[in-house]
Amino acid sequence: MCPAAYAQPKSSDYTADYQQTALEIYRHIISIRSAEGHGNVPELANYLADRFRDAGFDDGDIHVLPQTLSNGEETASLVVHYEGNDSAGREPILLIAHMDVVDALPEDWERDPFTLIEEDGYFFGRGTLDDKFGITTLTTTFLRLKADGFVPSRDLIIAFTGDEETGMETTQALANEYRELTDAEYVLNADGGGGFLDHDGNAIAFMIQAAEKTYATFELTIRNPGGHSSLPRTDNAIYELASVLKNIEAYVFPAQINEITQGYFEKTSVVTAAPVGDAMRRFAANPDDEEALAILSQVPSQNSITRTTCVATMLRAGHAENALPQSATATVNCRIFPGVAVDDVRAKLMEVAANEALEIETLDIPLASPASPLNEEVTAAVTKAVHKQHPDIPIIPYMAPYGTDGKHMRLAGMPTYGIMGLFIREEDEFAHGLNERVQVDVFFGALEYWHDLLTDLAGD
Ligand SMILES: [Zn+2]
Repeated sequence: MCPAAYAQPKSSDYTADYQQTALEIYRHIISIRSAEGHGNVPELANYLADRFRDAGFDDGDIHVLPQTLSNGEETASLVVHYEGNDSAGREPILLIAHMDVVDALPEDWERDPFTLIEEDGYFFGRGTLDDKFGITTLTTTFLRLKADGFVPSRDLIIAFTGDEETGMETTQALANEYRELTDAEYVLNADGGGGFLDHDGNAIAFMIQAAEKTYATFELTIRNPGGHSSLPRTDNAIYELASVLKNIEAYVFPAQINEITQGYFEKTSVVTAAPVGDAMRRFAANPDDEEALAILSQVPSQNSITRTTCVATMLRAGHAENALPQSATATVNCRIFPGVAVDDVRAKLMEVAANEALEIETLDIPLASPASPLNEEVTAAVTKAVHKQHPDIPIIPYMAPYGTDGKHMRLAGMPTYGIMGLFIREEDEFAHGLNERVQVDVFFGALEYWHDLLTDLAGD
């Protein structure tokens, strides 16, 4: 079925003040090209700060925090405090999302990526999903609650980062040097988790992202004195590196399970067809079930959740067609299961490579962040808010094989749950890609979701 076959809600059907405000904010911030290299994040932060000010938030509760990144670019983050009456006697809840986007080249898109375009029941544009969806839905919810005179029983804090898609330096600053502004009992991330729709647009499940794998990249190098290619020898950097890579290819890291992935497999099994669904159920019950594991290992998206993975992604070697190579280097990218040390993975690669001359360099500084223990209060509130719109769908804990701002929050000691109000069909998933889009009714549904969630978590 094509999208045009659905009933197509239009944004003009949503006439309440907060709905129209949301649309106006969404349209404006999508028009700001807040990608790396354009220096536009401060403009976006200031625009949002003005919206909060106009809605009655005190100047002293709105903080635009300019920051110069290590590459020299000027960016900013934004923190807004929604002061409560403290009747709950609890630490604040921090709500995060990111203002920057992956760049989009207008010439590659069918529609201008920096104009919000509504067509066939969808909003198109860069950031409609990642993550101006999160920015708009959180901002509008604060404005709506303020207009309604809502006073939270504990402080609510918004923190919008400015470089999530690149270095996450603003995230680190918010989690550490600006901690007095952001300190919270836990963090709700509007850039992760969320719901899935089936092909026909029916909600099937909602994910709570409570852990992220660690991202680490290694460069593997074999060196050799080289020589004339007319006189080949048995030692050769390219052949040796090729053997190393074949050994790494053949090695499979051991399967692992934690509270989050166990819950994920158990609950996802119910909405997944056999044989994969059956293998999920068996693996959740018994992580040593080799037969179940063998089935999951055939599905890349499930395999990535059962173990650490490492894969060769780049190669460079040799310097002339008539010379023996003096070096051969491969880039190997690993996604490491939470709790496994980066150095242990590196040592394992060295062992598996079985070549003592191999040099391994770790690129950048990999950051391992812990999984967040599942939080009953958050799970219950999310379940209630989701079920109000989509009764009975499973609410599933999830470990992401990719990274978000959440890892820095977790590393700084604040448990973090990715629970964005998005619902999406697999075939509409174009984050970072061309023609990024979100269904119109999903956008407005997310406004109700955040409103229900926050009035539940911070209501009387
Ligand atoms: Zn994102």
